[in-house]
Amino acid sequence: MSDHSVIDYDNIRGSAERNLGAQNEGWVELVARCFEAIKKHCDREELPYPRVAQIKQKFGGLRIYLHDGETGDDLMIDEFIHAACNTADSSCEMCGNSSRPQSIGGWVRNLCCFCVHAEARRQERDLTAYPLNDRVEHRLKCLSCGYLGQLVTGRDDKKCAACVIGELEK
Ligand SMILES: [Zn+2]
Ligand SMILES: [Zn+2]
Repeated sequence: MSDHSVIDYDNIRGSAERNLGAQNEGWVELVARCFEAIKKHCDREELPYPRVAQIKQKFGGLRIYLHDGETGDDLMIDEFIHAACNTADSSCEMCGNSSRPQSIGGWVRNLCCFCVHAEARRQERDLTAYPLNDRVEHRLKCLSCGYLGQLVTGRDDKKCAACVIGELEK
C-alpha cells in the first residue's frame, strides 16, 4: 500500500478541502484545526508529522485513518483525531451548526435542518413528498420534512426551524 499522506502539512486547509469537498466548510474547518494542532504538537515534541491514509464521511460520521504505526508511542495525536471526530458527530458537515446524522434518500449525511433543505433543493428532492429519515420513528421528527431534532417549540405541530421559516416566507 502506498504511504502517501492525504494531508499536506504545508497546505492543511487545502488538503482538508480536497478530501471532504470545499462545500463542507463545517468539517473542513474541524479537520484543518485538528491537523494544525497535530503539526504544532509534533514541532514541539520533534516528532515526524503522521501520514494520513484517508479522511472521509461515512454513515454521517467523520473518519480519519492514519497509516499503520504513524503515531508511535505518542497518545496526543490519537486524542486530537478522536476529539475532532467526536465534535463532527454533532456538527453539520456544511456549516458547523449543531446537527445529527440524517438519512436523505439512500444516504446518511450529518447536516443541520437548513443545510439539509439546501441539499434537497440542489437534488431537486421534494421533502414533503419524500421526507428525510423515512424508516425512523422519532419523537423529535419534523412532521413536514422528517428532520430529526431542531424543532421549533411552542407550536401545535412539530416542525424544524427550516420548515417554519419556509412557511413564513410563503
Ligand atoms: Zn448546516
Ligand atoms: Zn422540517
